[in-house]
Amino acid sequence: MSTPPETLRHRPVVRLMDDPRLASAVAHATATDEATLADQIAVTEVAAPPFAEEARAAVMSGLLLEAGLTEVHTDAVGNVLALRPGAADVTPVILSAHLDTVFPPETRIAVRRAGDLLEGPGISDDGRGLAVLLAVARALDAGAITTRAPILFAATVGEEGAGDLRGARHLVGPSGAGRDAAAFISIDGAGLDRVVVYGLGSRRFRLRIRGPGGHSWLDWGLANPIHALGRVVASLVALPLPREPVTTLTVARWGGGTSVNAIPQEAWAEVDCRSACDEHLERTEAAVRDAVGAATAAENARAERGALEAEVERIGLRPAGATDPEAGLVRAARLATEAVGVDPVLSLSSTDANAAMPAMLCTTIPPAKSSTPSLASRPPPQTIWTNGKYTKVSHPTRKIR
Ligand SMILES: [Zn+2]
Repeated sequence: MSTPPETLRHRPVVRLMDDPRLASAVAHATATDEATLADQIAVTEVAAPPFAEEARAAVMSGLLLEAGLTEVHTDAVGNVLALRPGAADVTPVILSAHLDTVFPPETRIAVRRAGDLLEGPGISDDGRGLAVLLAVARALDAGAITTRAPILFAATVGEEGAGDLRGARHLVGPSGAGRDAAAFISIDGAGLDRVVVYGLGSRRFRLRIRGPGGHSWLDWGLANPIHALGRVVASLVALPLPREPVTTLTVARWGGGTSVNAIPQEAWAEVDCRSACDEHLERTEAAVRDAVGAATAAENARAERGALEAEVERIGLRPAGATDPEAGLVRAARLATEAVGVDPVLSLSSTDANAAMPAMLCTTIPPAKSSTPSLASRPPPQTIWTNGKYTKVSHPTRKIR
């Protein structure tokens, strides 16, 4: 999936910059900057909360058609797709941006402009990406550029939060239009310098422990779900976590019980785990499930009567992955960034591109020096282990979902 088309591998970007067709395209993009900003504002002002992207999808369909693209349609999960044919009958390169925002439906979405500054919920993430799709399509036409591979433009659903990359995963999955794509490029947010080559994965869980419940005095001795949950949290806090690459575990929410004089019937918690390595996430998930099982068994053994039951529900799953920093696609991105006078920064983030990245090789990771990561000992920029060597990446703080 990450293999770039031949053209990217063998054609120096510098020579491309001297091509008059590219010069025309760049000149068009520069001259129509105000129109691109107008698109950005227009799509941003159509609300696209999680799982309700239809209105913005409809606007984007119209704009992709206006930009001269063909076969504009909406796929089974709500992604808006459009094609720009290539010269060769080969698999397409996907250029994507996401439709959804993190903002709930009641958020007032209006973009305010003060000089060069645009302010509004989602104006950058990913109003900018959507506007860039349109600008690229128009600029390629303005330069009369025919790419070798077709370009599949994709405005995806479900990139943020609980969306779990559902749009991108469908797109490159077995029944998606991009299942055999040669490359996947996601434009996510503003800025020119970041080239995301590592996909931060995550798994999220809701833990539930239930019991009969009763009066705190009359029924004392019953198994107590909150007491069991306390044991779960204590053991998760003490869990040794891999450091290469850094893997995190956060107990983020918890609750339960109905009254101060009642043994609760239920306790629950939500847990977030992140890593750039799926294997670490897999092992961390197993540890979470073991902790819940052990804590429930311990509380049942302590109690005089009443058995607790526990369940662990997975409520979030984003695959982790990595693109080789030396891959042609990444080299092309770095050279193109340098060609416009900006130093590229390889970085780690969670984006639609996670869905298309190969899994990172974690099996050859050397043993960690210390088992538990601490904020003090985690160096920015962090180092990540992939494909047999360490590579420095920027600290993953910019995109936190
Ligand atoms: Zn985004």
